[in-house]
Amino acid sequence: MCFKPGRRQLRLVFDRLMESYGEQHWWPGDTPFEVMTGAILTQNAAWSNAEKAITNLKQADILSPSAILEVSQDILATLIRPSGYFNIKANRLKNLCNFLQQNSGEYGLREKPTGDLRRALLMVNGIGPETADDILLYAFERPVFVIDAYTRRIFTRLGMAIGDESYEELRGGFELSLGPDVHLYNEYHALIVRHAKETCNTKPHCERCGLVDICLFG
Ligand code: SF4
Repeated sequence: MCFKPGRRQLRLVFDRLMESYGEQHWWPGDTPFEVMTGAILTQNAAWSNAEKAITNLKQADILSPSAILEVSQDILATLIRPSGYFNIKANRLKNLCNFLQQNSGEYGLREKPTGDLRRALLMVNGIGPETADDILLYAFERPVFVIDAYTRRIFTRLGMAIGDESYEELRGGFELSLGPDVHLYNEYHALIVRHAKETCNTKPHCERCGLVDICLFG
């Protein structure tokens, strides 16, 4: 494994981000199923658009696995239209709900060890590593570090990653260095997303960045 960040270095980045932005209180969802639904709806979409789709599902009173399985594909797609790729995502939501039903729902899945649950989620059509890990961390509170394009961008700029590491390599590096810590992973990922959106954008605002003195790029 090439990505082997030091624990102190990772903690320093976390502390600086926390100083800059404070606690993020993720994931913004009322129930684990809402979090799972949001994880699919936010694929390739801004969270604000995924949120509109969730509001539509709530207003139609179908934010549950049984209701989503009962409603027609067309109606479901129309309701989640704001999240984009709505036909594909309607399919994916139904796949997720079938998976939940086949495994005695959320409570059945809670019985599974993290590795088994991750492997099972990855078998669901439309759930890739990032979505699976969002679900594991934020819906099932498992110590799994979520990697996304923002994580890759920031840690490459910081000089801690090369940039072409695989998803699993980055995830393994964070988890090995930080140790299993659900609360830390929860906050860390949320802070990375906030930092990437507000400061370390495609064109970074290094002049107002709390990491500038420890950043290779800055
Ligand atoms: S100093 Fe610039 S490049 Fe480095 S993390 Fe901050 S905003 Fe991103």
